[in-house]
Amino acid sequence: MEIITDPPQRALVVTPHPDDCEGGCGGTISRWVREAGTQVVVVLCTDGGKGTSDRRRSPPRLAALRAKEQLAASSVLGAVETVMLGHPDGGLEDGPLFRSQLVREIRRHRPEAIFCIDPYRTTTHTHRDHRMSGQVALDAAFTYAWSYLHFPEQIAQEGLQPHRVREAFLWGTESPDAYVDISNYLEAKADSLLSHVSQFPDPQGRRARVGTAAAETGKAAGLPFAEGFRRIRFELDTAAWRYLHA
Ligand SMILES: [Zn+2]
Repeated sequence: MEIITDPPQRALVVTPHPDDCEGGCGGTISRWVREAGTQVVVVLCTDGGKGTSDRRRSPPRLAALRAKEQLAASSVLGAVETVMLGHPDGGLEDGPLFRSQLVREIRRHRPEAIFCIDPYRTTTHTHRDHRMSGQVALDAAFTYAWSYLHFPEQIAQEGLQPHRVREAFLWGTESPDAYVDISNYLEAKADSLLSHVSQFPDPQGRRARVGTAAAETGKAAGLPFAEGFRRIRFELDTAAWRYLHA
């Protein structure tokens, strides 16, 4: 168990639906942007067009509304850019298109750290888009983005360069091992989350739950309020890495 004290200069957040990243790492992002000057890019994978139980809503209209809500939430977080990939809600696939899109964003923004949902669970289940987004984000960073030989058209035709991500922070994990104290950022987290107005019919109740959940998470780290992650450090100190970065 560790308390994270070394924020990255650049981070890329891969969120399957509007509102997932705010709930998972909104306090940490808010803190790092404000205190460490971390440059944060949010990559929204789906359009969130099926995120309702209201039969009167049509997916295209809901997607348009949720895009606006995401921009408002990203503004609260302090993100420098929000990239919307526009996959259909519930239709995210681990295929060449989605992989190439995440590799492209990693190569464009060159983050030291990525944030994504932990795709691997053993005792609970999660939304298919959550699994797909987490798995492809990790593969994009660890398998593809650093190699000239993967998606070489991005290098030959788009002027991008390979990039090696240093580490990943996985939210929604069953086994957090790294924590960030968000005691001063509960309001920012709640404000970013509640920017997704269409998703929260009881905003005051949801705001209160942000605090109770952060207090519960903090117990494991001896912090009053925290977000917890599984932290994966990529194996950078290898011969191949030194060769690529010589
Ligand atoms: Zn979601």
